[in-house]
Order: sequence, then C-alpha cells, then structure tokens
Amino acid sequence: MTEILNYINGELRKPGTDAWLDNVNPATGKVYSQIPDSDAGDVEAATKAATDAFRQWSVTPVKQRSDLLLRLSALIQQNLAKFAEAESIDNGKPITLATQVDIPRAVSNFHFYGTAALHTHTQAHAMENTALNYTLRQPAGVAGCISPWNLPLYLFSWKIAPALAAGCTVVAKPSEVTPMTAYLLSELCIEAGFPKGVLNIVHGLGTRAGAAIVEHPGIRLISFTGGTKTGEWISRTAAPMFKKLSLELGGKNPGLVFADCDLDHAVSSSLKAAFSNQGEICLCSSRIFIEKTIYDKFRDAFVKKAAAMKVGDPMNPETKTGAIVSKTHYEKILSCIELARQEGGQILCGGEPVKMSGDNAGGYFIQPTVIEHLPHDCRTNQEEIFGPVVTLLPFEKEEEAIAMANSTRYGLAATLFTTNLNRAHRVAAKLDSGIVWVNCWLLRDLRTPFGGMKQSGMGREGGFEALNFFTEEKNVCIKIS
Ligand code: NDP
Repeated sequence: MTEILNYINGELRKPGTDAWLDNVNPATGKVYSQIPDSDAGDVEAATKAATDAFRQWSVTPVKQRSDLLLRLSALIQQNLAKFAEAESIDNGKPITLATQVDIPRAVSNFHFYGTAALHTHTQAHAMENTALNYTLRQPAGVAGCISPWNLPLYLFSWKIAPALAAGCTVVAKPSEVTPMTAYLLSELCIEAGFPKGVLNIVHGLGTRAGAAIVEHPGIRLISFTGGTKTGEWISRTAAPMFKKLSLELGGKNPGLVFADCDLDHAVSSSLKAAFSNQGEICLCSSRIFIEKTIYDKFRDAFVKKAAAMKVGDPMNPETKTGAIVSKTHYEKILSCIELARQEGGQILCGGEPVKMSGDNAGGYFIQPTVIEHLPHDCRTNQEEIFGPVVTLLPFEKEEEAIAMANSTRYGLAATLFTTNLNRAHRVAAKLDSGIVWVNCWLLRDLRTPFGGMKQSGMGREGGFEALNFFTEEKNVCIKIS
C-alpha cells in the first residue's frame, strides 16, 4: 500500500512518531494508502526548515523564483493524467472534471504567479516640493497554507504559488481527506530543483498538524481555506500573535433567476452551479430564487435534468456525478436532507443514497436532490450543506429576492440570470457577495481579487492582492531638500 510522506527540508520523510492514518477511496469505501498523522514535532521541523530557507529565498532574484514555478507548472502539465487520476480516487470527483478543470487550474495557478511576480508594481505619493513616499513590499516570512478537500490541488496551489512567488517560504497542510496530489506535488518539487526548505508539506489532521501550524509563533501568516467554524478558531488563536490572516470560508450561495432571462441557459447553468463536483464547490449555488411567473417552467425543466444526472464510478469518463468525499460528509448531507423533510420541504428528486454495485458497492453516493416549499429563513436555507442539495424558492419582486438572498450569515458567491442590463448592474451591487456571476458561473480571471463577505471570509486571494498579502508593506518617505 502506498505510504504518503511528508516533504520537509527538501526530503520525503515519515512522521516523527511513525503514526499513520488511513486514506480512503470514497467511491469504494476502501483504504488505499496511508498518510502521516503528523504532530507539532513535524510542524516544528518544517518551520525550522522554512525559517532557515527564508534567508536565501527571500533575496533570490524574482526571475529565479519565477523559473522554478514555471518549471513546476510544466511538470504538472506533463503528469496531468497521473494527477487527475489521483485526485479522482482521493476525492470521488469525476475523472473528467479533474482532467478538465482541477488539474489544469493548478497548472495555471503556478504559471500565473510565476509570471505575475515578474510584473509587480508599487505606489508612490509625491508631496509637492516636500517629499516622495513610496511603498516597498518585502517577503513577509514563513507562511502557513492550509487547504480543504473539495478542490485539493487547485486550492493548495492557489495559496502556495503566490506565497513562493512573493518570496515567502511555506509550511503547508493539505486536507487529510485528500492528500495524494500534494504528495505527488512534493515529488515534482524535488524534480524541479526547489531549494530545500522553501516548500514544506506536512500531512495529517487539522486538529493536530493544522492547529500546530496556526499556533506556531514562527509562522507569520496564515492563508486558510475551509469551514467558517475552523476559520473562527484560527482567528481566535492567531489574534494574540498578530498574524496576518487570509480566510476563505463557507457559503450558502444564492442564484437569482428573473423572468426576462434566457430560460434554457438559466436552467443548464444553474444545474452546473448546483451539482458540479457533487455540489462540493464552495461557489456552488444552493438556493435558487426564481421569479414567480416562470417558477413552474424553470422548476420542471430543472428537476427533469437533475433527475437524469447519472451518478456513477468517478473513474468512468462518462460520469458527471461521482462519490461524496467521505463517509462522515455523506452522513452529514443525508442528515441535512432529513432535516429539510422535517422542516416541511418537498423533495422533487433525489433525497436518497444511491446503491452501487461491484467495486463501488461500499462507496458514498447521493442522487442530486432538489427541494421546494421551504421558507428562506429555515435552517435548510440558512446553513451550509456542501453537497448535491439545492432548494427552489419563488419571489415576486426584485427587492424581495435580494433580501432573501442576503439573509444568511454568508456572502461568498451569487449567480444572476437576466437579459436586462440595468437590472444586472443594480442587483449585482446590492447582493452581499464577494463575486456575482451574471449569466454564467465559475468563470474565473486569475487577475481579479477573490474572497467572501460577512462570515465567508476576510482578505482577498487571486491577482496581485495575493502577492501583496505575502509581503510586508513599508512606506519610505524621502525629504526633498
Ligand atoms: P475544514 O475547515 O474542516 O478544513 C479545512 C482545512 O483545515 C483542512 O486541511 C483541515 O484538516 C484543516 N483544519 C481543520 N481544523 C483545523 C484547525 N483547528 N487548525 C488548523 N487547520 C484545521 O473544511 P473542509 O475541509 O471540510 O472544507 C469544506 C469547507 O471549506 C466548506 O465550508 C467550504 O465552503 C469551504 N471552502 C471555502 C472556499 C472558499 O474559497 N471560500 C473554497 C473551498 C471550500 P483536516 O481535513 O485534516 O481536518
């Protein structure tokens, strides 16, 4: 059985205590590899390596840092099929999605930041005939990067790439649920010739290895993507040490469908937004508000398509809906569906586990589920489920739709379907949402800042904002005499 190893100080290492965790393939329910159950001792070793490496890496010419990131990007591209297979087995996501979206986007992340670092700029403020101020940005130190299981390599690279490009060294922890692609990445870092200690990857539990990263006084910044509850604990723990934080947290994303939309497009895009990756994308729509005059038409078309979505073996290239990532998460989603029933929701399709045969008999599969007749303020419509479950709600007036959309504690992403340009601008401005997609979903330009409002997070990732996050800003004021 494969043993996944930590990557510390340029070497692949067993955990200090030789303690291991099972890594389960969610499509079969079977253990297929072992991962380090790392503890504070491993994090200490990784932080020491990163601290030692920072001295040189932070002053390494940006062109050399860029060359290494571009080499890593090219190596992942060359190994795309291997990475996609690993991600699909680890996560349960359809291999086609991993091949076409997740891994190519990880390739792009390293490529984007490898080149962006060459083109940074800074501000200058002239005080007329008195002084010139300019902002100097310097690498901030050792960064802790902690990522979740839903888009394993994509979100892992989304943090690591800007950190390394900006001249920070890194102690990173992928989710213990989906560690394989981060392990493959560490092998490629060695092949690419990364200096030892620049990137360190510690595998293990969030509450042990992850917490040790947050608690370590030598780690100056934390870039975290995961649940709001974990984000809250990280904020509380890091605050007394005044660490710089970037938190990308949970969501309960609304989709707004107006009667003047292109209905076929709104139905097919909303379907993708609801059920891609089994609904396990933080940007998935989970509440769809539909103008009353087209509610029945939209609902019938949407449910017909959702019911036709075949749940299947993630390794089959035809599969569009794979397995839920873990037994614990599968049980959580089923309990949320049960709660929706108790709250008076009517299940229009799905709502049940799917029993598979052969190798997949022990896997965790749930049919895409559509629910209606629930008020906007019930628990089902307020709490994040993070699975293939969506509710439909009618509205009469634009203001009512906006108020219901904004009624949760979250504010991550929203979709809006309308052909009225004025309405598009007006509603987008009023939604509590870090990103609003109009007549589309999941289009991402890496140059744009990304992040949530309210309890969906703080700070912005993406673009030059992410590079700036990993730097300390200094104002230099020169007197003109
Ligand atoms: P968690 O918050 O449980 O975990 C995220 C990461 O943090 C994992 O690596 C986890 O390790 C680790 N972790 C857990 N507890 C701690 C701790 N006390 N200290 C440090 N690290 C810890 O989230 P999930 O992995 O369940 O991911 C799903 C969540 O992520 C959803 O809420 C989703 O909305 C959100 N998300 C947000 C995104 C955004 O951009 N805003 C994007 C993608 C997901 P381990 O896995 O070992 O527990």
